[in-house]
Amino acid sequence: MSGAPITDLSKLCIHTITMKPWTIEQSARKFAEAGVGGITVWRDAIAGRDIRATGKLLRSLNLEIVSLCRGGFFPALQPGQREAAIKENMKAIDEASELEAPMLVLVCGAAPGQSLIESREQIKWGIEACIPYAEKKGVQLTIEPLHPMYAGDRSAINTLEQANDIAEYFSSDAVGIAVDVYHLWWDPNLQEQVARCGKNGNLSAFHICDWKTPTLDMLNDRGIMGEGCINVREIRSWVEEAGFTGYNEVEIFSTIYWGQDQDTYFDKIIQGYLHSS
Ligand code: ZN
Repeated sequence: MSGAPITDLSKLCIHTITMKPWTIEQSARKFAEAGVGGITVWRDAIAGRDIRATGKLLRSLNLEIVSLCRGGFFPALQPGQREAAIKENMKAIDEASELEAPMLVLVCGAAPGQSLIESREQIKWGIEACIPYAEKKGVQLTIEPLHPMYAGDRSAINTLEQANDIAEYFSSDAVGIAVDVYHLWWDPNLQEQVARCGKNGNLSAFHICDWKTPTLDMLNDRGIMGEGCINVREIRSWVEEAGFTGYNEVEIFSTIYWGQDQDTYFDKIIQGYLHSS
């Protein structure tokens, strides 16, 4: 049943950035011990490591590698910078492939100094340029719309409707969408856009956390599910009704939590997942 209470951690995936003070090896062992089913890897967590060996370690702990975060940042004022962004995305696709992660999540980017409309066009071109390589490597480019408070410099894709438009334009298995409650909970059209996303086969990932009131920092003050104002369970029910059967991915950036005892914080995440997701 959609939105049914969660009783175990088999569909829980945690992003490495959520536990930023832990190394990926520490996180993986803690996740595995607790029975967490999946892990999403951020590129900084594998920097300087043997990526294939790290992937092997994660799988040996029975963790499914859900995705690699993140690529994107396509828009730029200069053509040379846009070319460089595409090259960087190819590199990220390589890393996802080495890790055997099926998705590369895209924070699409925005360039101060040009309109969001222009930035959206450049995002389309950037994705288009990467699709053949992504297909060859078996990695999906997963567009994550970001909250409009990030429209200035992080993403010109701010609603699920915009992401749906782009994904449907390409209509390719190499392009999908990540629905993140933190970015999209406010949207009055969310339920209908989630249904559209699922119906067109583009609903690839589901990210959860909570919106604290007040939010003290635009980037690094996300909450654990249950401590803010997002209707996480209701949104999960929409996502499930749209046919999504993948992981519920906990993605939290929090200077406050990163400064606390990580075992206690980890336990709070598990409790928030079981009782408020
Ligand atoms: Zn996210």
